[in-house]
Amino acid sequence: MRALTTVPSQAGTLAVTDVPEPVVGPSDLLVDGIAVGVCGTDKEIAHGDYGWAPAGHERLVLGHESLGRVRQAPEDSGFSVGDLVAGVVRRPDPVPCGACAHGEFDMCRNGRYTERGIKELDGFASERWAVEAEYAVRLDDRLADVGMLMEPAAVVAKAWEQVERIGARAWFEPATVLVTGAGPIGLLAALLATQRGIDVHVLDQVTDGPKPELVHDLGATYHHGDVDDVTGRIRPDIVIEATGVPRLVLAAMSGTAAYGITVLTGVSGSGRRLSTDPGLMNRGIVLENDVVVGSVNANLRHYAQAAQALAAADPGWLGRLVSRRVPLADFADAFAARDEDVKVALDLQA
Ligand SMILES: [Zn+2]
Repeated sequence: MRALTTVPSQAGTLAVTDVPEPVVGPSDLLVDGIAVGVCGTDKEIAHGDYGWAPAGHERLVLGHESLGRVRQAPEDSGFSVGDLVAGVVRRPDPVPCGACAHGEFDMCRNGRYTERGIKELDGFASERWAVEAEYAVRLDDRLADVGMLMEPAAVVAKAWEQVERIGARAWFEPATVLVTGAGPIGLLAALLATQRGIDVHVLDQVTDGPKPELVHDLGATYHHGDVDDVTGRIRPDIVIEATGVPRLVLAAMSGTAAYGITVLTGVSGSGRRLSTDPGLMNRGIVLENDVVVGSVNANLRHYAQAAQALAAADPGWLGRLVSRRVPLADFADAFAARDEDVKVALDLQA
């Protein structure tokens, strides 16, 4: 069968190759792949900057934003043939650490976790794939065209869980949230914010293309001006930072209202220096009881939350997040950025 594979650490090796049919264990589902979403991590792996092949293999099958239909399921698995499913990306480390032992593998302490399509496990960008039933999530059938948004939505659901758990340490009725970055993570963060009845603001730099309208159609406010100006005016109770741009990260941390919670979800490049006053920043965080928290990946609970959030969303709006669908054979086109892109997906059967 065909799969999108690459040799990790070697740029220019991304290719559609012939790979063996998946090995289906006794408690595994066999799934017909529908599509995978392509994200920044996939591009980093394709550029040779990231990623690890399974032990004993030269090539890694890419794809961690999965969507497929069950082709074969064990009788007691809770899944039926034809179910729409997404596969969970991360698996606990083999030790396991305390967090992994408690199902919190998104919080793994020793870094020895594995990840489908990223770290030592083949991904989902193949015509068929197998997944342990316990690491498969069933999706509402209305998500048949957009279910590859599950993985980023799970990451966002975790970010919101962080907000709610941190907020719960004292009285907490957040009124205003600022999301920085209107990519798929930022837009899904805005969606989950509107589902919580909060006044939502999204900041990005573009002034045209689909992003401003996607924000507007959520009933949220789109901003493209200076971040300090925006935080000064709206004084957000919560910031979900989804760019990793150092200037925005600093401004987000400093611009919240008292008892502000900033969740950092974007990974920054290093080496860029900004002039800042750490004393002033410390003063702001202490005197306002602010929290800045990093959040990455997602566990089974967050996938379940994401499945609910997507099922409750307008499928038409979600469909506009998947701005391009590209046949597997044209993968290079999916990995080349276009201005109008939000999320690009690869069709695995085309
Ligand atoms: Zn662990």
